[in-house]
Amino acid sequence: MQRIETDVVIVGAGASGLTAATELVKAGRDVVVLEARDRVGGRLWTGDVDGAMLEIGGQWVSPDQDALIETLDELGLETYERYREGRNVYIAEDGERRLFEGEIFPVPAQTEGEIVGLIEKLDQLVAEIDPEAPWAHPRAKELDEISFAEWLGTQTDDEEAKLNIGMFIAGAMLTKPTHAFSALQALLMAASAGSFSNLVDADFILDKRVVGGLQQVPIRLAERLGDAVKLGQPVRTIRWNPEAPEAGVTVISDSFEVHAQQVVLALAPILYDRISYEPPLPRLQHQMHQHVSMGFVIKVHAVYETPFWREQGLSGTAFSPYELSHEAYDNTNHGDTRGTLVGFVSDEAADEVFRLSAEERRERILESLSHYYGEQAKHPVVYYESDWGSEEWTRGAYAASFDMGGLARYGADLRTPVGPIRFACSDMAGKGYQHVDGAIRMGRLVASQALEALET
Ligand code: FAD
Repeated sequence: MQRIETDVVIVGAGASGLTAATELVKAGRDVVVLEARDRVGGRLWTGDVDGAMLEIGGQWVSPDQDALIETLDELGLETYERYREGRNVYIAEDGERRLFEGEIFPVPAQTEGEIVGLIEKLDQLVAEIDPEAPWAHPRAKELDEISFAEWLGTQTDDEEAKLNIGMFIAGAMLTKPTHAFSALQALLMAASAGSFSNLVDADFILDKRVVGGLQQVPIRLAERLGDAVKLGQPVRTIRWNPEAPEAGVTVISDSFEVHAQQVVLALAPILYDRISYEPPLPRLQHQMHQHVSMGFVIKVHAVYETPFWREQGLSGTAFSPYELSHEAYDNTNHGDTRGTLVGFVSDEAADEVFRLSAEERRERILESLSHYYGEQAKHPVVYYESDWGSEEWTRGAYAASFDMGGLARYGADLRTPVGPIRFACSDMAGKGYQHVDGAIRMGRLVASQALEALET
């Protein structure tokens, strides 16, 4: 066991932890970053699968994500636009494939009216929500006691309108079924992206990608931090003395015992209980952390010799609340001659296909993609399913959210430090919630708070 003295220990080398470490170093402080995995990036991971470069985790950047955009500029990383020329595909309940342009799906006029009305209503409500403090809304408790599914039911009887509006928040964002999270949680998700209209607009929310992959962000941040980043070091124990907080904190991983003044837990809140705390965390944290859970989605990558759908005049953007893969996009890499499609299979649908054999699952998913793009979609040259549910140090995708009632009850407490222990993660961000932008914001915030604490 090697002993190290430093100012701040950061647990987790994702975007959040590495941003916190970078800010502290900029302010002249010493840091040690302990990372459980043998790589940096956490939920950002660019892999080479059978010769194809795939972004297994997060990848898209939207124009409102200024903390992320500033970081990309600072690191000299270039972006490129998602391919979006041509018409989008929508599949109706009866399986009919309809082509369309713009954001509103080609549904019957009555349903379209309901969808437009719901978007307006949600935009109004979202405008009242402060993403940094959704619990402060005067109707927060009431909105947190009703599931998003029930709330949609109070607004319209149109099943197709409910399914589509539900999909933008449920399958596409929180990756939980609409009955499993509250209306308040849905409003936070939209408020964190500026408006509900922004979530509906794929050209906004899935605007750009980074040349070489978004994992370049943590990789470059870690390069600058050099030896301070220790890989393969799951933190097992955090020890401090509440009677003598000035004595600091000891953080123990498999090979290191690091003594510091402050520790930042920069990991998904659902993983806090993998660490032993001496003394144990307070009652509030014990309770609160049980009300946060990960969503679940399979990100499916299918690479073809050419982006064949473009020849059919298709943008690659496809949606259907009735399909196994409820959304799919052209995900061809910058400068690549091959074409890549990315599809998503969310929450209960993901559970269902993980009960099948790998071959059956692949067949079912490719069948779904073929409904959007035709028979050719069934024959990729590379096929890969990102399965974050099996990742010990993540346990789901994309991120964590509160269960029914949890946001109003505990939201305000999630970031509150416990003695020298501070918390930072995309899953507790306001703006940029559940996104890399939010991870960076939380990293910056916790670094400034740790600096303040070090100076007093
Ligand atoms: P993490 O990335 O989870 O980092 C936490 C780190 O802590 C990990 O490296 C983990 O290994 C480590 N760790 C955990 N426990 C311990 C321990 N005990 N000791 C030491 N280390 C530990 N966001 C976007 O902005 N755009 C997207 O397009 C997008 N798409 C996504 C697609 C997928 C499939 C997934 C999974 C996520 C996506 N996201 C996207 C979300 C985004 O990737 C995350 O919000 C963000 O990367 C989280 O960063 P973080 O630093 O807060 O947490």
